[in-house]
Amino acid sequence: MPIQELISGPNPARDDVQQTAFTYDVVGRYICNNWQEITAAQGSGAYPFDVVVIGAGMFGAYCAEKLYRLGSASALRILLLDAGAFLLQSHIQNLPQQLGGKVGGPSYLRTRDDASGAQNVIWGMPWISNEGFPGLAYCIGGRSLFWGGWSPPLTDADLANWPNDTTAYLKSADGYPKTAEEIGTATNALTNAVNAAIPLDGITEVNEAPLAVQGMPPRSGLFAFDKYSSAPFIMDALRNDVSRNAAYGDLSRRIFLVPRVQVHRLNLTGNTVTSIDLSVEGARQLLQLASGCAVIVANGTIESTRLALESLGVGSLQFGSPRVGNLMAHLRSNITVRIKRTALGLAGPPTEVETTALILRGSTMGRRHVEHGSGH
Ligand SMILES: Cc1cc2nc3c(=O)[nH]c(=O)nc-3n(C[C@H](O)[C@H](O)[C@H](O)COP(=O)(O)OP(=O)(O)OC[C@H]3O[C@@H](n4cnc5c(N)ncnc54)[C@H](O)[C@@H]3O)c2cc1C
Repeated sequence: MPIQELISGPNPARDDVQQTAFTYDVVGRYICNNWQEITAAQGSGAYPFDVVVIGAGMFGAYCAEKLYRLGSASALRILLLDAGAFLLQSHIQNLPQQLGGKVGGPSYLRTRDDASGAQNVIWGMPWISNEGFPGLAYCIGGRSLFWGGWSPPLTDADLANWPNDTTAYLKSADGYPKTAEEIGTATNALTNAVNAAIPLDGITEVNEAPLAVQGMPPRSGLFAFDKYSSAPFIMDALRNDVSRNAAYGDLSRRIFLVPRVQVHRLNLTGNTVTSIDLSVEGARQLLQLASGCAVIVANGTIESTRLALESLGVGSLQFGSPRVGNLMAHLRSNITVRIKRTALGLAGPPTEVETTALILRGSTMGRRHVEHGSGH
């Protein structure tokens, strides 16, 4: 029997936690706030928001977490908005049997949302295209809950046109090396560091700890089981805030995440964004920003570009209305190639399952590209 849509009732939820037919919404409730709570949190005695981050996906949620941690000395207040709602607390591949179901992608590629809207719970198409797309995963963590895990750093050639301070930061110890450690692509930096510090009094060996967290894949070409997504990062920041900064309730808290908020437009006064047009659960709202409030646009490449073009007028005017070029694209085609083992200098059949993964970088017609390959 199909289950019915739920309609919110007149009574407050017990313990402030809603329930569905199957679920106690504890995790969603513990990390998200609603619009009324955000309005109240800016009431008298509270500081206004210093930063609004649009999109709580791979980059927005990561960025908001960093602003929370690094902004503690100045008590930075951060508002994180996302068009989707809480879905999973971790990468789908970290969950038992990957949770199954079809939530990992849309059923088929399409050029626009059809009448039924998002596919497989969260996969929506905010734009119209002449190419089929999986679309965006409208949920906290965004596509980071589903990504494959390849994260090669940009090369010097890639960074040639980037601002000097950004390039210097990415190449510093706080840049790529630190992120690689955080997201698990550099797995044994700590072991190496501790090994370098030996001899320590009484310690004879330093090795990987027998923890039930696998930072390193068992074989080259396989992914680590503890796969990065931005969801645990932002959840940790939000819960840390509740435990440390709630002496005056929400008035003194520093970071809030509001789901089901679709940002439509950034409104300018001169060159400054002073308010944001958005919909909260489908109802239009205007979010007024305090003077000096920074806005971080992180709602996916294409949607962010739409906001930049439409609201900020950024882009080339060569063809009339503002346009941008050189967007990075992820084009995928699978090619199966069979190579004789003898051609690789390998004698006889393998004695165990052999897999590997390679990254190939190259350039053609003045454009750089990256290929990933895995083999067994
Ligand atoms: C199956 C799969 C495998 C992948 N594998 C890899 C890989 O191996 N390596 C790699 O580098 N990349 C990979 N990717 C791509 C990678 O996941 C994305 O590049 C990355 O998640 C983009 O981050 P983002 O923050 O820009 O967007 P997202 O993670 O999509 O987050 C955007 C967020 O913005 C919200 N949003 C959208 N519009 C609005 C709006 N108007 N208002 C408010 N909120 C809005 C969405 O709900 C979403 O939460 C893969 C993607 C998929 C789907």
